[in-house]
Amino acid sequence: MATVEQQVPEIQNGVPAPATGEIPVENPATGQTIATVPDMTAEQVAEMAARGRAAQPEWEAYGFEGRSRVMRRAQKWVMDNAERIVTTIMSETGKTFEDAELAEIGYAGNAFGFWAKYGPRYLEDEHIKSSQVLVKGKKLINRFRPLGLIGVIGPWNYPLTNSFGDCIPALMAGNSVILKPSEVTPLTSMLLAEGMRECGLPENVLQIATGRGQTGAALIEHVDMIMFTGSTKTGRKVAEAAAGRLIPASLELGGKDPMIVLSDADLERAANFATYYSMQNAGQTCISIERVYVEEPVYDEFVSKVSEKVRELRVGKPEGPGSVEVGAITFPPQLETIKSHVDDAVQKGARVLAGGSQAPGAGRFFEPTVLVDVDHTMKCMTEETFGPTLPIMKVRDADEAVRLSNDSNYGLGASVFSRNTERGEAIARRIHAGAANVNDAMINYTVLELPMGGAKESGLGTRHGAGGIRKYCSQQAIVVTPKLAMKKEIFMYPYKSRTSKLLAGFFKFMYGRGKRD
Ligand code: NDP
Repeated sequence: MATVEQQVPEIQNGVPAPATGEIPVENPATGQTIATVPDMTAEQVAEMAARGRAAQPEWEAYGFEGRSRVMRRAQKWVMDNAERIVTTIMSETGKTFEDAELAEIGYAGNAFGFWAKYGPRYLEDEHIKSSQVLVKGKKLINRFRPLGLIGVIGPWNYPLTNSFGDCIPALMAGNSVILKPSEVTPLTSMLLAEGMRECGLPENVLQIATGRGQTGAALIEHVDMIMFTGSTKTGRKVAEAAAGRLIPASLELGGKDPMIVLSDADLERAANFATYYSMQNAGQTCISIERVYVEEPVYDEFVSKVSEKVRELRVGKPEGPGSVEVGAITFPPQLETIKSHVDDAVQKGARVLAGGSQAPGAGRFFEPTVLVDVDHTMKCMTEETFGPTLPIMKVRDADEAVRLSNDSNYGLGASVFSRNTERGEAIARRIHAGAANVNDAMINYTVLELPMGGAKESGLGTRHGAGGIRKYCSQQAIVVTPKLAMKKEIFMYPYKSRTSKLLAGFFKFMYGRGKRD
């Protein structure tokens, strides 16, 4: 694996001096530039790909045991270096200590151990029993073999969980990986790559391609599979580029997750969950609660509870544990999107019950905001806002809530609150989303045994679970005939009337006994 320094073309006095320019990395909570990273060219990406391919066979030869050992060391490394990682994440995202600790360190710690243990189980040879009589007595195997070189392209909202997190199963499967983190948040990936090297990952098995969109586009030209997390807009471009090369693409895209509050819900719990899961990470989570539908009888009480809780949240520069609840807006253009969604709603008749404006300060902050009197003519109910805003809409009944929840191009996550869990589950099953939580939200993401992925325009494919590592492999069907086999099979040449009729009768006997009702 290459260190950060080795991937930089030239180093002068410890400062990277790339040939084609560099990208400043800003702390969104202060507005200050904290580092610069190289903006890697297509040629540099091609060279990395060659190095990655050369390194892959040795890594594959480590076997599950050898690779698991490196992953377990990495798990320990993450815990030993948690403070340093959290500081890096906070500095490039402007998120709170808690958002970095819980949703990034907590995820990575679990993920390294999970894939070390379950990777081998999900990828071991599957011995198949077949109903096909012509292969009776033969050994049938479904084998998973690493694809070779995987490209991972990640977003800026969770540099460890979403960018780096997908590298873990790809590596565990025996692939080399090139990770292209968001240009906004490359430092966490670089730090983790350094950590993996300390943990014994061979040189060039994991490389970090810092750069902008063009660097990501160049990466797709060289890899055997692309794992992309980001916006639906960019996801389409990635899918088109992957289709051009006929390589698989797994796409984790945007969302507009609905929450449904039924009149028999525990309103205090529902209000706490609405507040937390809409404002956590300043609303910059693909599976944030982005809109709420509340049954008429409990609407007023729910709105009052949520508004009160949201008004109490402290927003500003995170200093350390317990300093603020809502941190910075990481990506500069996002602030304009958030403002435009709030302004559009207000112009169309929505009322602001909390927040509503950009928060003062040197960094980039938006006040935790509650909007009511909203409907589906407003952007805040139909487009991904990705900010600390919570629009709440009154609905007649559960059917209307389900209809409106499904009235979206997105289908990432959803949640339903009801004391009647059977009814809650029945409603959850009617929502077209990759995940639905009853009396909870977002928590499915932390369950690595469950698939996580989007329906509709929220994505293609899944991460986590068996599918979350098998996608980094090709499958090979192996059929082994025992040595004491007949010299030829019954259906072979020369064709004879008697054997042909015998076979036809046999098929009829085997498959023709059903009914046509
Ligand atoms: P973008 O789609 O803007 O960018 C994602 C990554 O793609 C970045 O690294 C970006 O580079 C890169 N990129 C840009 N153009 C291209 C291209 N033509 N070819 C290849 N790569 C390219 O997303 P954001 O970074 O703004 O992330 C926010 C989005 O991610 C939200 O929509 C959110 O919902 C979604 N997301 C989805 C998750 C999921 O699991 N479903 C999880 C987390 C976020 P650069 O940044 O340098 O331009």
